[in-house]
Amino acid sequence: MDFHVLKDSVYSTPAFVLDEIEVTRVLEILADLRTQCGCKILYSIKALPFSGVMDMAKAFVDGFSVSSLFEARLANEMIQQGLAGQGNIHLTTPGIRRDELDELSLLCSHISFNSFTQYQRYSEAAQAKSSIGLRVNPKLSFLHDDRFDPCREHSKLGVDIKQLCRTIRLDQIQGLHIHNVFSATDFSPLIKTVEKLQQHLGIGLAELEWLNLGGGYLFGQIEDYRPFVELVNKLTHDFGLEVYIEPGKAVVGRAGYLVATVLDSFVSDGETIVILDTSVNHNPEVFEYQRQPELHEHEPEGQYAAILAGCTCLAGDVFGKYRFKEPLQVGDKVVFKNVGAYSLIKANRFNGYNLPDIYLSNSLRVKKVKHYDYQDYRRQWLAD
Ligand SMILES: *Cc1c(COP(=O)(O)O)cnc(C)c1O
Repeated sequence: MDFHVLKDSVYSTPAFVLDEIEVTRVLEILADLRTQCGCKILYSIKALPFSGVMDMAKAFVDGFSVSSLFEARLANEMIQQGLAGQGNIHLTTPGIRRDELDELSLLCSHISFNSFTQYQRYSEAAQAKSSIGLRVNPKLSFLHDDRFDPCREHSKLGVDIKQLCRTIRLDQIQGLHIHNVFSATDFSPLIKTVEKLQQHLGIGLAELEWLNLGGGYLFGQIEDYRPFVELVNKLTHDFGLEVYIEPGKAVVGRAGYLVATVLDSFVSDGETIVILDTSVNHNPEVFEYQRQPELHEHEPEGQYAAILAGCTCLAGDVFGKYRFKEPLQVGDKVVFKNVGAYSLIKANRFNGYNLPDIYLSNSLRVKKVKHYDYQDYRRQWLAD
């Protein structure tokens, strides 16, 4: 990314910029893996359900993975617009509702029920149209923060692997779904997880048609893909399984930038405070998980320090302390990096501040593709 071009070309801020070259780079890696081992690729749209991403992904993926009716509808709409024949839509969620089930099963090629009770209640109605599976919880934790760990104690996500064989015969379902890591950069958790699956299910795996290995791996930032290729080849060869992966953050995380402009700068108790025309509400995980986002302008050895803060009334609406070569001036632009995933989808208009415009950038141009305005805010808040 050429930051000079980026800052010059973004004419209104806050701006969410997606680097098409980076998205395509990751999609090409995924498509290459598909060629090497025959795995099927789904883009997990919850990371950023922007049509521009789904459009870019179309040529590289076998479909999309979704967690709700709205996501399923959007994925389906995108598929209708030109992905005929490869329109896989995989759903798994604890939140399936009876009143949405018929439409969900029309839209989704595969549904993995989150619990045995959910399966009992809904599989009969869903199986006429969809291939039915269960989300299995392998009870293997690789994360040390309960907030992201699907395998935490008393987890709500998936059927406990120990219960699985006691509660269901594998020939009654077509597939299994596992998802138990977040932002992993090597495949050792996946290998351990599949080993555990094999220990518990053994040759029973051959009764199934498909296995969805979930998301959570940062394809594009992994050095050695051979363990993955070997694993998928083995699953295909030993059990005849069709293997799916459904990355989200891998596809868009590093491709996303948030460009903001300095609105004000002053000193508070001896520290320089810089107010930006964005806020943690445009990237809520900063506040949710108290994580400091990367800033392009940050110079670890820089002489000037400042606390970058958002423009809302919340005292804790703060990005963190950064260092700079030159003091930031009102009107300067700054760029947060690696904010493509789980940012805009969680963003809100708290305090009545508008959402960022969306731009697409490649080496030739930066183009505005989505603008929100007062009418969007008004429509959300005026009673019907
Ligand atoms: C969130 C999620 C994904 C995508 O995860 P990333 O970390 O964005 O790759 C895939 N599958 C399931 C079941 C998920 O919950």
